[in-house]
Amino acid sequence: MPLTPEQVERRRRNQEKRRVETLRGISGPGDPRCECCGEDRVWSLTFDHRDGGGNEHRRAHGNAPTVVLVRRDRKRLGRWPIETYAVLCATCNHGRRVSRDGRCPHEREREGVNQ
Ligand SMILES: [Zn+2]
Ligand SMILES: [Zn+2]
Repeated sequence: MPLTPEQVERRRRNQEKRRVETLRGISGPGDPRCECCGEDRVWSLTFDHRDGGGNEHRRAHGNAPTVVLVRRDRKRLGRWPIETYAVLCATCNHGRRVSRDGRCPHEREREGVNQ
């Protein structure tokens, strides 16, 4: 049976609530923020695999969104898997992906090194 608009809306809200709860868990005390630049607008925040390999990991789990993998790890470990995942804003997440050494270009900027 197709979902009613109310059910769709409730599901969307629950997903967003779970996402924010997970962002808080990984980001540590206080409001969730980007580990690199401190961005704290929740809509821009994403989960990053610290060791890379996020795409392969997701694929191995049926293309589950990273938030699902984080919560699965949490259940298994009984705590938030903060050593495996980081909260990054979309800009820093992308920055790491396109950089040569896996670090966000912000980090090099802060060190005063040009790209
Ligand atoms: Zn950032
Ligand atoms: Zn950054």
